Amino acid sequence: MSVGSYLRRLLLFNCLWLAPAQADELRIGVLAPFGDEAVPADWGYVRDALARELPQHHFILRPYDISGLHAAAAAAAIDFVLTSSGDYVALEFDDRASRIATLESPQASAPTAAIASTVVVLDVRQDLQRLADLRGQRIAATAPQAFGGWLIVARELLHAGLDVGHGDVQPLWLGFPMSGILAAVQQGRADAGVIRACLLEDLIARHDPLARGLRVLAAQPTEQLHCAHSTPLYPDWPFAVLPHVPHAVAKQVATALLSMPRSPEGYAWTVPTDYQSVHALYRELRSGPYAYLREWRFEDFARRYWGWLLAAFVALLGLIVHAVRVEYLVQQRTQALREAASRARSAREQLDHLGRLGLLGEMAGTLAHELNQPLAAIANFARGMIRRIDAGRLAPQPLREGAEEIAEQAERAADIIRRIRLFARKRASERQPLAVDDLLDDALHLFTGMLVEPPPLTRQGLPGAVVCADRLQLQQVLVNLLKNALDALQTIPSTERMMALRARRVGDDVCIEVRDDGCGLDAASREHLFEPFFTTKSDGVGLGLSLCKTLIEAHGGHMYALPNPAGRGLVVGFTLPLMEIADAAERSSD
Ligand code: ADP
Repeated sequence: MSVGSYLRRLLLFNCLWLAPAQADELRIGVLAPFGDEAVPADWGYVRDALARELPQHHFILRPYDISGLHAAAAAAAIDFVLTSSGDYVALEFDDRASRIATLESPQASAPTAAIASTVVVLDVRQDLQRLADLRGQRIAATAPQAFGGWLIVARELLHAGLDVGHGDVQPLWLGFPMSGILAAVQQGRADAGVIRACLLEDLIARHDPLARGLRVLAAQPTEQLHCAHSTPLYPDWPFAVLPHVPHAVAKQVATALLSMPRSPEGYAWTVPTDYQSVHALYRELRSGPYAYLREWRFEDFARRYWGWLLAAFVALLGLIVHAVRVEYLVQQRTQALREAASRARSAREQLDHLGRLGLLGEMAGTLAHELNQPLAAIANFARGMIRRIDAGRLAPQPLREGAEEIAEQAERAADIIRRIRLFARKRASERQPLAVDDLLDDALHLFTGMLVEPPPLTRQGLPGAVVCADRLQLQQVLVNLLKNALDALQTIPSTERMMALRARRVGDDVCIEVRDDGCGLDAASREHLFEPFFTTKSDGVGLGLSLCKTLIEAHGGHMYALPNPAGRGLVVGFTLPLMEIADAAERSSD
């Protein structure tokens, strides 16, 4: 049948049955899963018993399929409903039907446990023993929304670990009558079939060939329901009243049902029972009245998990507060560190400056002497020139030579003053790539320039070696080392004095050191050499080497002092990380 003709038939059918009621006519809508014809035979005794008990009313049985029954209930075209437990829960939800009695079946020992489904397979299918074995199998059933015809089994399949909604089994929807399902299993069109409990026993009793060679899968104990079944038990069919029916009429019908004698087959009515187990099934399957649970809604989620949401919110809040606090503390600490670093830098600069001034102060005598030399020479040359002029010996060549000497001596004096000014200037550290050999030359020049009679001094460079350093700070360190070596030589006869300045490579560092064969220093004193205010000199301050240590460590190096391997005296030096080194330098290192 095409969908169009089916809908036309459905419409005709509903229009017919949605006709208005006669006065005192009470219409009982009956779910007819086995066809309209079966309804008078199955439920005629109920209609007749009610008619006998309440003769003032005229009772009519109206058979429907599920959708027809719901349409009739919604349109108030029926007054009472006699339907399956599963369908009743949907009607209760949608149309406010309320049960007034529950059926008592002869097969069940209690109306609360009377409905179940049976899963049948061919006995020869030994591979199918448990519900879990149905994974990937074709299962014939009535319809996706049929309670006893599918949903009860669907819930058990879910419990057995099969995701029925996502293709773990292949359902085959065959509708009513249920005999078609058994036929499909018999013919091998389906691997298993879902039928209502007790149908198999009915067929066996009638010697129906459809019941032959079949086996019940996952059979449950039969104390409560005396038929083979594969699922838990649910309450029996209810008799329900729709909301538009007057209360008095509902009460009369309920009383008549409860006092109705058992039918010849053993059916009777009892007080309405609890249908919560049916609700639970729908809720778990998110089907029927609970189909909306499939849609994700924040309200539902929040209602269900508000405790967790609250905990997550509090945790998030805590995290944010913690993060803000940490950020604040880090900023404060960074600020404090910056201030401390700037204080340390200015203190270092101050110390550095004082150190240089101190060094200059100590050398003031020799400095004055050094400047005196060119000045005396200038005066001599000038006087010599005056004498020549007075004597009338004005030959241009000697005069020119005299003037050149004067200019040269004046430049030498200016150079000494310029270097001293540079050395004494207070300034921030300025690092740049510096050739080690240039550093040695500068320091020697500055040092010897200050001395009247420099001691014999050898120099060994490291060509091609480059360090990243502050030129003046390194000059200061080297001049300090040279001056200490000179002081240590004072006790030695001037003929035996010897000093050496040399650079050598050790790994990735350059070692620059000053060696002397002076008085030397014992091991205990060497340990304190770089501590502030350590001095053995009567006029010493003991700040020079500690300042050198600070400057060298700021450059990433360290200071050291060793006994002179040549015998007498000391080697004091420092290391610096090499920035680059040419091949020549590598060859020259030892
Ligand atoms: P100061 O020269 O004012 O004493 P330093 O810090 O420059 O301060 O030197 C500390 C001490 O280290 C000196 O007093 C001296 O005893 C010792 N010293 C430094 N260099 C040498 C050296 N080359 N030979 C022997 N002793 C040295």
